[in-house]
Parts: sequence; structure tokens; C-alpha cells
Amino acid sequence: MSKYIFVVGGVMSGVGKGVACASIGKILQSRGYKVTAIKIDPYVNVDAGTMNPTEHGEVFVTEDGDETDQDIGNYERFLDVDIYRINYMTTGRVYQSVISRERNLEYEGKCVEVVPHIPEEVIRRINLAAKKSKADITIIEIGGTVGEYQNILFLEAARMMHLQKPEDVLFIMVSYLPIPDKVGEMKTKPTQYAVRSLNSAGIQPDFILCRAEKPLDLKRREKLSTFCNIMAADVISAPDVDSIYEVPVNFEKEHLSEKILDKLNLKAKKKNLNDWKKVLKVIKTAKRQVRIAMIGKYFATGSFVLSDSYISVIEAIKHASWANKIRPTIHWLNSDDFEKNPAKIKELKNYNGIVIPGGFGGRGIEGKIKAIEYARKNKIPFLGLCYGMQLATIEFARNVCRLRNANSTEIDPKTKHPVIHIMYEQAQKIAAKQYGNSMRLGAWPCVINKKSKSFFAYGSSKINERHRHRYEFNNDYRKIIEKKGLLLAGLSPDKKLVEIIELPGHPFFVGVQFHPEFKSRPLKPHPLFMEFIRTAVRKK
Ligand code: GLN
Repeated sequence: MSKYIFVVGGVMSGVGKGVACASIGKILQSRGYKVTAIKIDPYVNVDAGTMNPTEHGEVFVTEDGDETDQDIGNYERFLDVDIYRINYMTTGRVYQSVISRERNLEYEGKCVEVVPHIPEEVIRRINLAAKKSKADITIIEIGGTVGEYQNILFLEAARMMHLQKPEDVLFIMVSYLPIPDKVGEMKTKPTQYAVRSLNSAGIQPDFILCRAEKPLDLKRREKLSTFCNIMAADVISAPDVDSIYEVPVNFEKEHLSEKILDKLNLKAKKKNLNDWKKVLKVIKTAKRQVRIAMIGKYFATGSFVLSDSYISVIEAIKHASWANKIRPTIHWLNSDDFEKNPAKIKELKNYNGIVIPGGFGGRGIEGKIKAIEYARKNKIPFLGLCYGMQLATIEFARNVCRLRNANSTEIDPKTKHPVIHIMYEQAQKIAAKQYGNSMRLGAWPCVINKKSKSFFAYGSSKINERHRHRYEFNNDYRKIIEKKGLLLAGLSPDKKLVEIIELPGHPFFVGVQFHPEFKSRPLKPHPLFMEFIRTAVRKK
């Protein structure tokens, strides 16, 4: 028994389709079903690794090293399961498979056509993903909005699947209902058009989730029912929420899991969302606060700032705080500002903890290094993630080991002291212009020194964490850096790669070459973030 739920967007993007999918997954899972989720990105890029974070937000990395859309992160966080490469597809990836099969004569001399061969490949991938995670129910999010050219072939795949298994396939449209200021009422017309557009692809939605600033009223529910050819009870209100983690509970207020299971001919077993509700209670009631500074370079798109680029880090800080019954406030500091105005660095004393997240390239680097120096000297809890760890190494090399102008070869290829450098294999890939999916990616094992804070945090010396980078700690500098007091607290099992650095004697100064944020979940906060937050609160 395998059931499939396609989720499509109406009217506009960015109204939380990913969170809606994750939440639908959550409520079905809470009924005792095994759920997985697939993200379809209509881009021609083969993966998100080559997409601009300004446009596309964070690149989320899976256990098996795929560079995916941030929605995969939402699925993992809500469902508390690992999602794999097969669950992420782009137009590029689908075409790549079909073309390589054609080159291998696997179509036995037939004409290979966009229809049906492309939708067939989409369906093949959906079935493989469902099988790999042994899912009872697979949710498939089709990126973009209906009416775009880009996702037509994916809608076609959905239509074909429904034709093959009408009992097992269901469609949900997540739409947006504007409440224009001047008009003063919620408008349904854009959604009506979106449904009509979906109809013209041969698909009738079974449910419409109505995203809006406010809850849906009866009048509009009935209107949508009449004009969109759908039962009023299947028009679901999905008003704005303070925390995305409220969404599953809100859906259940509309009995969504029961209604979905009913249409899929599945029994609605007793529901259990208790653990989830406990977290929600903390989110709503926690009084004690912790102030965390996130220092990055912020991605402006026109006059707007896209905070999405760091979504997993932000969520990881929240999960760890909530587990400690604390309300975190996350403050975004632009590292460029510390360069332009060095006196600003003192403002860091107003924070209980400092996080330097991952990044690429030279902009804003010196500002981040100054911030790390301040955290080190003033004993402010510090967590460096990937680039954050590399920059902490550079700071230590420059200011403690007195290696003047120490740097990463990513920033200064001719530096006299390349304390962070590119590995031979990576340099070769770049020379051959092999940029796609070629970093050190996915889960790698690490062995932790038992005397370290990290060991205390993890409670284990063997861990697995997800990576996404090309540069590494340069082993030529191990001796001097260790001699000057930095602890190489985590190494790869063959001891060749430095994975964690720590500063003994500091309340919490930890840099990790990996991205622990990708493994943090609301019901399973990450141990390093937990220890970081605990120390930040204690220091306060
Ligand atoms: N730019 C660094 C590297 O490639 C760090 C990457 C990151 O922070 N994800 O190694």
C-alpha cells in the first residue's frame, strides 16, 4: 500500500508550501503512518549547490550528500526522519537521467520524447523514493505556482499517476488569499483562477489550503466551494502563525488528517501530537531569554533581505533554546559593519552568544575575524560553523600564534601562512571546472577527544556530521597551533582531517568543520547547540 499526495501552489510562491507539506506529513505521521516527502524544484540546475543563495535561500545538505532546497530541511525537522537524494529532483536532474539513458541505448532505438518520457522519469523517481523510505504515504511538493511553464511536466506526471491509481493519489493546492488594505476584505478570485489553471492541466484539487493573514470565514469558504468545484469542508483555513511549528496543530483544528485519510481509504488511527504540543507550549510561554548574535553577510535582494540563507542555523538555535525552556532572540549583525566602523565591535558585549555560520568568498571576512577575536578575548560563548571554524583558526593563527597575515587560500591564494587550504582532490576538480556536487559533502565520521567540551556535549566520541566545503585545516600548522593552546578536539578516523577546534579555558569556544545545524530537529535538538545555549544562559 503506497499513497501519494501532490501539493501544488496557487497565486504566488513564498506562502509556506514547504511548511504546509511538512505539516501535512506530520499530522499523517501522528496517525501512525510512515511518511516521506519529495521536493520538485523546476530549475534546470541539477541541484541547489549551484544556485545563488540570494535567489534560492539555504542549500540544505542530506546525509547522502545531496545539495537540496531548504524545504528538505523542513521535512526532516517536522518528520524527524532523514530524507535522501532520491527525494529531491529538478528539471535538470530528470532530463540528465533521460538523456544518459538515451545515450546508453536504453530506449532501444525509439524516439525519446518530452511526453511521455520526462513525466515517466518523474514517476519512476517518486516510486523509488517511496520505496526507499518504505513510506505508506509520500508527499510530493511541486515547486513554483500553477500556470508557470516550468512545472507543467511535473503536473503532467501527477496527472498520469492519478490516472494509473485514482484511489491512491490526491491533490492539495496551497493558495494565497490577499486582503488588500484599500478593499478591506479577503479576495478569493486569484485562487479561483489558480484552480482553473490547475484544471486545465487535467487536475482537480481535493483540498485547497487557504493561506492568508487571517482565518477564512464561512462566506469565502462557500464561495471557493462553488467556484472551485470542491466541498466546503475541504477548503481549509491556514492563517498566518507566529511559529511555523503551529501549523500542524492548526491543520488538525480543521480535522485535516482525518479528511485526507478518509479520501485515501486509510483508517484514521488515534492521533498523537503530544510531544509536539509540549514544544509549542514552551515557544508560547518561555520567559527567560538568550540573545544570540549571528554574524554573516546578509543577502539583499533589491530592497529586501533574505534571511532564508541561514534557516537551519536559526532553527537549530531555536530548538536548543526551547529544549532549555528559553526564548531565543536572534540578532543579525552584518560583518561588513565591523570593517567600516571598528568601534562597533564593542556592541558584541550585549550578546550572550555569538554564531558565525558558513559562507564563501572574501566579503565581510575581516569583520568576522574581528568578532571572533572579541568573543575569544571576552569569553563570550562562540560557535563557528564551517567557515566560522576556518575563520576562528585564522584568528588564532594571526593573533595568538603570531603568524602574520595567516589566511585561507580561498581568500588569499598567495598568503604566507595558508592555515586553511584546499585539498589536492578539490584543487583538481576546480582546475577541471567541475563545480557541481564536488565539495566534501554529506555525512562524515569524526572521532572526538574525550577531554573536550564537544565530548561532554555529545556524550560520545564517535559522531557523524554533514559537510559542505572545499577547504580544510592545513596539517602543516597543527603543531604550532596546538602548542599555542588550541585543542584539535575532533579528527577524522584516519586523523588526517581536523573537524573540531576548541579553546580550553574559555566557557565555550567551539568551531566545527561540519554543519551540525542540518541535524537539529525540534524534538531532537543538536547537542552542540544545546551546550552552546546552556553556556550562553549561564554566562548571562
Ligand atoms: N568557503 C569554505 C569552504 O569552501 C566554507 C564553506 C562553508 O562554510 N560551507 O571550505
